[in-house]
Amino acid sequence: MTSPSGLAAAAERIAAACRVLGRLGLTREPAGHISMLLDDGAVAIKARGPSESGLRFAGAGDVVVVDPDGTPRSTAPGLEPPRELAIHLAVYRARPDVTSVVHVHPLTPVLFGICDVPLLPLIGAYDPYALRLLARGVPTYQRGVLITTPRLGDEMAAVLGTGGACLLRGHGVTTAGASPEEAALNVIKLNELAELNYRARLLGEPRQIAKAEYEEIVGTGRTRPELIDSAWRFYRRLTNEEG
Ligand SMILES: [Zn+2]
Repeated sequence: MTSPSGLAAAAERIAAACRVLGRLGLTREPAGHISMLLDDGAVAIKARGPSESGLRFAGAGDVVVVDPDGTPRSTAPGLEPPRELAIHLAVYRARPDVTSVVHVHPLTPVLFGICDVPLLPLIGAYDPYALRLLARGVPTYQRGVLITTPRLGDEMAAVLGTGGACLLRGHGVTTAGASPEEAALNVIKLNELAELNYRARLLGEPRQIAKAEYEEIVGTGRTRPELIDSAWRFYRRLTNEEG
């Protein structure tokens, strides 16, 4: 059983990540949720329901806990686990390396799922984190439905594969990480990739960076934890989360 203080800390991290993504405009209205796997296999997740705040205004009180099978372990008045809890549970089942999942509806990445236009590696040193995220694969789950059953969740998790992000056609995105901060950064970086690709296509004929440069920057394929920390601190400050 996760300790009360551990649960409170998880709820605050989830809520802070929700607020950052909400303030950056990376989801619509109250749509979206962030979850975190707890020590005992339970999952803490931003709730939905009549009393929901929306990501931008989320607090620790917006977080509820479910068992690994999705049974609610805690409730709050007017709040319940999101209908798309299945997204989160399926990724945790499939990926032992993942301890946090984000599902949101950001406009520009969604356009790439709609139009079958590939996200290309157009940038190098401009944003190595984003390039590494792309190198791990950003596939598209082809169904536009709400993902509310284990079967649909497993289908989507299979498309996500071993990567850090996938697009959901006509719907949104799912990202995965080793912390709520990393999973949320993956949304920010995915949005950056989509914005760059979108604008480059408007301007002209985008050219990919050279293969040797791509390989040098992608390297091991993962961004060092201290760089994730500093990027996250920046976005927290940018959105008035601290300092
Ligand atoms: Zn959704």
